[in-house]
Amino acid sequence: MAEVSLENLHKRFGHVVAVRDLSLQVAEGEFVVLLGPSGCGKATVLRILAGLETPDRGRVRIGGRDVTRLPPGRRDIGMVFQSYALFPHMRVFDNVAFGLRMRGVPEPEQRRRVEEVAELLQIRDLLDRWPAQLSGGQRQRVAVARALVVRPQVLLMDEPLSNLDALLRLHFRAELKRLQREVGSTTVYVTHDQVEAMSLGDRVAVVRDGRLVQFGPPAEIYHDPVDRFVGSFIGSPPMNFLQAVVDPEDGRLRVEDVKLPAPLAYAHALAERRGQAVLVGIRPEHVVVDTGPLRGEVVVAEPLGAQKLLTVRTLRHELKVTVGSDRPADAGQRVSLDLPTGHLRLLDARTERALPRL
Ligand code: ATP
Repeated sequence: MAEVSLENLHKRFGHVVAVRDLSLQVAEGEFVVLLGPSGCGKATVLRILAGLETPDRGRVRIGGRDVTRLPPGRRDIGMVFQSYALFPHMRVFDNVAFGLRMRGVPEPEQRRRVEEVAELLQIRDLLDRWPAQLSGGQRQRVAVARALVVRPQVLLMDEPLSNLDALLRLHFRAELKRLQREVGSTTVYVTHDQVEAMSLGDRVAVVRDGRLVQFGPPAEIYHDPVDRFVGSFIGSPPMNFLQAVVDPEDGRLRVEDVKLPAPLAYAHALAERRGQAVLVGIRPEHVVVDTGPLRGEVVVAEPLGAQKLLTVRTLRHELKVTVGSDRPADAGQRVSLDLPTGHLRLLDARTERALPRL
């Protein structure tokens, strides 16, 4: 276990700036997920941390030690990548033992540690098999075992679940979380899947265009996105955003043809914005249906098992709203909506950044 510190990392490939002045501190034993859309630079950050890329500027510290110029083998890290290529000509046991053999660990010790990690990952029965005789999920577990067996201070994972089907993914996600708690390795995990990020991370680092845009616990990222991008990227369906104007007379929020009370927490920010446009954000599960001043029509109703997802068209917006699965709803139905004040998040209409709350 060790803390990891990325300091002002910058990396350019030709004309593409993959990472821009990115800093991030990961505490000892913490599980941090780097999350962002394809091409945002998250894999490059991980590769820099692993020692597979050298940054143009900035530093990497592991356990306080500057490792920026050290090769991967001298960083005390374990890696699991998307294509968790096992050696096809080696049995599972030898695949898992590989790192120990490379480090010259004596054979009895190798056997003991492979068995211990195999127990943890529930692959004891598979140790004599060849990789070709394993399912995707089993192969994945072997790859994790191979990384863990050397007891790295830091475990790095790049989309390790992306080759699994939906059910296995769900299963393995929970297993991985349990395992990380048990082993306690400081873990940095890369994904573009926001559900995975929210479920696994102690903290989530949202990356966009090579920059760190928000870093915090999943609930904070979900409920208090720093900008429209984070609000839209996190959550399925994403946060709704409505155009509004701060009433010049009474400071309330004019949305379409209705006025909503101004949230108290934004009193200060709104006082400076009388007569100006703002964006109102609200999560689909917080929109109240069948009461309230906003009128709309259901365009699509999608049963999703535990819930039903409605797409509701109002005068000038289209909102995603979740309701109970037993609420009857069909396309064409007229509904009224309320946007409860306590759940509103306000953003600057031009910069699309969150306004300060008290
Ligand atoms: P994905 O989720 O698709 O893997 P990512 O967020 O992990 O994407 P990176 O792989 O870090 O993104 O790439 C960031 C940017 O840097 C991309 O525009 C990519 O094309 C570019 N890039 C990455 N590696 C190289 C390289 N070796 N040479 C040139 N450009 C590269």
